[in-house]
Amino acid sequence: MSGNSDKMIQEAYSVVSECLSIIAHDPDAMTSFIKSQKEIRKKIVDKPPEKDKRSRAEKFARTLGVPTTLTNDIRNPENVKNKGRVSGKRLRSQREVAFTKASKGSKNCGYCRKKVSPNEKHDRRTCPQRIEDEKKKSMEQDSHGMFDSEND
Ligand SMILES: [Zn+2]
Repeated sequence: MSGNSDKMIQEAYSVVSECLSIIAHDPDAMTSFIKSQKEIRKKIVDKPPEKDKRSRAEKFARTLGVPTTLTNDIRNPENVKNKGRVSGKRLRSQREVAFTKASKGSKNCGYCRKKVSPNEKHDRRTCPQRIEDEKKKSMEQDSHGMFDSEND
């Protein structure tokens, strides 16, 4: 059915474009063509094909054996979660979110395990204790290296 209506749309277009190609350079013909097109449009716009709609509803009613209504009383469910997740973000449970919120600001450092206050906030990467230890370690390694080269 839609294929047929597509064909008809194409036909309508071709009729209009054929007319336009003929009268394109004739302003008077164009004016009267536009006028008649507008009259056709006015007829269509003022009187929408309501009859067809109703007959379709009646057809459905007959087929289904129940009266159909054109109003939609069924509301969409609220708070629908789409499948999949936002890229790069793991879906957290409400419990996890609450836990994260509660622990924010008073997080223990992953390295020295000291409780870090918000104003002197640091973590494993910025831990002064770790930086100190790294320094010591690299100094030890340097001294070993010096010993090695002296022994050679
Ligand atoms: Zn630390």
